[in-house]
Amino acid sequence: MNLSLHNTMTRTIEPFEPVEEPVVRMYCCGPTVYNFAHIGNLRTYVFEDVLRRTLEYAGFGVKHVMNVTDVGHLTDDADEGEDKMLKSSKETGRDVYTIARMYTDAFFQDTDALHILRPHVACRATDHIQDMISLIKRLEAKGHTYVSGGNVYFSIDTFPRYGELARLNLEELMSGARIHVDENKRNPKDFALWFTNSKFENQVMVWDSPWGTGYPGWHIECSAMSMKYLGESFDIHCGGIDHIPVHHTNEIAQSEAATGKRWVKYWIHGEFLINETGKMSKSKGEFLTLTVLQDKGYDPMDYRYFCLGGHYRSQLVFSWQSMDAAKNARRNLVRQVQSLKREAARCATTLSAAAKEYLRVFAEHLGYDLNAPRGLADMWNLIKDGSVPADEKLACLYDMDRILGLGLEGIEVDEEGSESIPEDIQALVDERIEAKRNKNYHRADELRAIVEKAGYKLKDTPDGTLVTK
Ligand code: AMP
Ligand code: ZN
Repeated sequence: MNLSLHNTMTRTIEPFEPVEEPVVRMYCCGPTVYNFAHIGNLRTYVFEDVLRRTLEYAGFGVKHVMNVTDVGHLTDDADEGEDKMLKSSKETGRDVYTIARMYTDAFFQDTDALHILRPHVACRATDHIQDMISLIKRLEAKGHTYVSGGNVYFSIDTFPRYGELARLNLEELMSGARIHVDENKRNPKDFALWFTNSKFENQVMVWDSPWGTGYPGWHIECSAMSMKYLGESFDIHCGGIDHIPVHHTNEIAQSEAATGKRWVKYWIHGEFLINETGKMSKSKGEFLTLTVLQDKGYDPMDYRYFCLGGHYRSQLVFSWQSMDAAKNARRNLVRQVQSLKREAARCATTLSAAAKEYLRVFAEHLGYDLNAPRGLADMWNLIKDGSVPADEKLACLYDMDRILGLGLEGIEVDEEGSESIPEDIQALVDERIEAKRNKNYHRADELRAIVEKAGYKLKDTPDGTLVTK
């Protein structure tokens, strides 16, 4: 399987060649755990999961590391803002460590429900403060830092390639008006590595350091932890696109200034999930979680299916209507798999040329910058192809599902959603699909009328025909 990925650093789709065979080392910026993950965050983790599964499908071993940002005040890109963990603590009356643990557990419950494979290492920021201090000391020894107003700052003027990832025009940025300029900074784009001068009252999470008691800046955790677990140069770093201009830009500056080496080979960023009124944000207060979707009757797999329907580098607009479409399409998929399972005693161990061709095309689509929407279409084309026997279809579907992760193999034959469509009705629906394929629209209309008379509604969608009672 050929694999090419879009690299934000070069803005091109490049053939994927690992830094060092056989294991691909991949770091993903993880959740901030002062609240639940919203479905936008989860879209990013679904895309990263598709990436990891595609690498594995292509035959690579993968070491997947993700941080858990459990230090509340690390959530702002600059040194402004509020300590969200503290805020959450005040609101709920729980201590900050309990809050972090609670939301970390909730995060993994969501990702498990979405069939997102767990990272091999999920590392908490609070367990790695010494690693961050060591990295800051390294930067200090090389002259990349200065102390001002009690805080340690990274001086971007000491790192000529600063802003390369985001293609920042520094001169323009400098001359642009800034509302909050930290007076301690020599350059407004400098960023804090360590704070001793807390802006937050009653700071609970503080540690001793050579610069005084305080806490680390936000960006340093990802540099310190990724290099600890993956080495000083590794293959892939992912996150949402919001991280390009500040967080990842600063991560690069710290890491490469410390080691003098190129840090990451491929930068892969997922576009945002937005709602019809705009951006989703945790700090806006109200936001949609997976639990809200579940409470409204959607299965987590409906949301995964919805995410797979959009390319990871395109914005995806959330609406209840599109969630319903995803839900219906997935229900239809479940029914198709159930009927194949009824038809074939087991899945095929050898495949015909026709079946193999479906897998080849699927791998080509996923292998070219993770085109999951086309992968879904390939899956439906296979399902609809009357010339491929059921046992081969099942074998191909299970294979595709190694990337799509929809849990097809685990579908029970009598799982909810199938019982409402009796076999004779399904047979008429199948006959109508066949008639349409043969352009026999007159017969197709007749069959529709029969099915509707029996009390069922038919809806043709790009993913197939939906049958509802
Ligand atoms: P956070 O917990 O806010 O640090 O975000 C976790 C991940 O979700 C990061 O990779 C963000 O870039 C990403 N993210 C945040 N908001 C969205 C969104 N609306 N759509 C997709 N990804 C997002
Ligand atoms: Zn990060």
